[in-house]
Amino acid sequence: MSNCLYCGININKHVTWDLFNSFRPTLLCENCKAGLSFINQEEVCSICGKPDSRSICQDCNERLAQGTQYLTRNHSVYRYNQFAKGLMELYKYRGDYILAKVLGELLEKSLRSMTKNFVICPIPLAEKRLAERGFNQVTAILDEATFNYQELLVREEGEKQSKRNRIERLNAKQVFREAEIKLSVDQPILLVDDIYTTGATLNLAAKVFCDKGFKNIESLTVFR
Ligand SMILES: [Zn+2]
Ligand SMILES: [Zn+2]
Repeated sequence: MSNCLYCGININKHVTWDLFNSFRPTLLCENCKAGLSFINQEEVCSICGKPDSRSICQDCNERLAQGTQYLTRNHSVYRYNQFAKGLMELYKYRGDYILAKVLGELLEKSLRSMTKNFVICPIPLAEKRLAERGFNQVTAILDEATFNYQELLVREEGEKQSKRNRIERLNAKQVFREAEIKLSVDQPILLVDDIYTTGATLNLAAKVFCDKGFKNIESLTVFR
């Protein structure tokens, strides 16, 4: 081994000691790792995990007031900064599947600490997008990090989120439906996505569970 999976620079057999008592190579060089910015979990919105908030943020307050806050809680690990944007562009839009390993590694610790009794449900892609991209960027991350998950949601064709403005996204139409959910409503659900933008996507996905009577629907994203 090995080369940094993002910039390709040689990593001199750099290994780290991880939680599970085994040596493993890190997948990013020191330089690239320095581009990542951890979100301080002491200073986030207590609902959506927005960084640098000490109370409930404006978006969450609006949804609470409208009675449209379906997601119990979101956790995001890193900031969606310039480095993260570059990484995600290569991964999602240019289809560099190997970066799923990097993202899996970034999410792994958080997932391990959260999996307790959650059932993990990845945010699906609509069929057409899946065909365009060739893989679901979220299940690929979960596969690389070797987590079990259940694909409990189906996504209908909708307009691309990125083409809508903030208000339109906050009031987005439902695009998810269930794929035969046979779990007890007491089962805590952990939705997993790559990026949290306005939270509209995750909140709509949470609504499917909420409508069925589920009480605890949290989410985890790599970036926000
Ligand atoms: Zn690198
Ligand atoms: Zn919030």
